[in-house]
Amino acid sequence: MRLQTILNSCQKFKSFVYQKAEFEHSEDNKHLYITVVPRKNSKGICSGCNKLAGCYDHLPERQFEFVPLWGFSVYLRYKMRRVNCMDCGVKVESVPWSDGKQTMTKTMMQFLANWAKKLSWQETARSFNTSWHKVFSSVKYIVDWGLENRTLNDVASIGIDEIAWKKGHKYLTLVYQIDRHCIRLLWIGKERTVKTLLGFFRMFGKENTGRLQHICSDMWKAYLKVIKKKAPQALHILDRFHIVAKINKAIDEVRANEHRKMQKDGYEPILTKSRWCLLKRKENLTDKQEATLNELVKYNLQSVRAYLLKEDFHSFWEYVSSAWAEKFLERWCTRVMRSKIEPMKKVAKTIRKHKPLILNWFKAKKMFSSGIVEGLNNKVKVVTKKAYGFREFSCIEIALYHQLGKLPEPPMTHRF
Ligand SMILES: [Zn+2]
Repeated sequence: MRLQTILNSCQKFKSFVYQKAEFEHSEDNKHLYITVVPRKNSKGICSGCNKLAGCYDHLPERQFEFVPLWGFSVYLRYKMRRVNCMDCGVKVESVPWSDGKQTMTKTMMQFLANWAKKLSWQETARSFNTSWHKVFSSVKYIVDWGLENRTLNDVASIGIDEIAWKKGHKYLTLVYQIDRHCIRLLWIGKERTVKTLLGFFRMFGKENTGRLQHICSDMWKAYLKVIKKKAPQALHILDRFHIVAKINKAIDEVRANEHRKMQKDGYEPILTKSRWCLLKRKENLTDKQEATLNELVKYNLQSVRAYLLKEDFHSFWEYVSSAWAEKFLERWCTRVMRSKIEPMKKVAKTIRKHKPLILNWFKAKKMFSSGIVEGLNNKVKVVTKKAYGFREFSCIEIALYHQLGKLPEPPMTHRF
């Protein structure tokens, strides 16, 4: 069987022909070169207006990297034509296998991008004998195409989240669609300021914003402000995941403070290795952690009292009626305020301040479990960790859209 036959069965072009295929040696490897020529009497397509136009002249031969075959790198060779377009004048033709700017074929870029979803960019480059930069351009090409061709008119619910990035309190703002029929990353922005989130609404557009019914977020002031201004019609819900996270953070602080104090005062360090038994839900504890917890409870410690308050708070989410939930919340906050545990008091104050938005969770009929945003948040952490090594925002941005954006892909006749 001829190589041209194989090529035609995976990627056939109407107006071009695969001519000859030959090996060429370089220092370290053999490469396969396939010459492509226009079909006889065919016209070129003007890259300015996509209309057919007659040939003006030929540019020097170019090489386009194709999907490797049996360990050999493969290149298409082609002399681009310049066409004489009635509307645009003399223009370089557009060819179906390349977008004109890249040295890689579209097929190769899609091939690399597909692997880059499963492997890290570095691993992808190594596996296919190419450079990190080529993998990056491939993913960027696919992501750009996807962003341009995605639809945003089916979004009714969004979740807004922030994630720490780099060291030194750098944040990214992430906006997800969290509808039952589609959960995906919609947007990423630098920082977590008013300006950041306004950037999302600018991209999203007035019409799509008008369709929003639910917005989940944490208590970050800048977000609250923008949401109120931009989408007043949507029910704004303070996300369960973030409230639980706030309480856990307070517990952590109480434990660390108390631990330090006990050590200083010369007590036995009973709080060592107690972190997870205080943070995890009781039913999720391992046997060993449960034993540690049972031991701790014997002491009259702030950490333990804070832990009990936290466990108690979980019944809040069980309420059906928002009126009863509100009563519970009030009682809980009062108890916390009397507890004299400062970090917990701070949480109670915050909760009181944002009570209406927290109670909106019941109005939304508990539609948004903390699992959705939490799950996405964890996935983002995996991607940014995997992307460790490229510190540029643009890399992280592309990697996240690629992994979590559920973006459409350019149509492909053959999957390599
Ligand atoms: Zn034209």
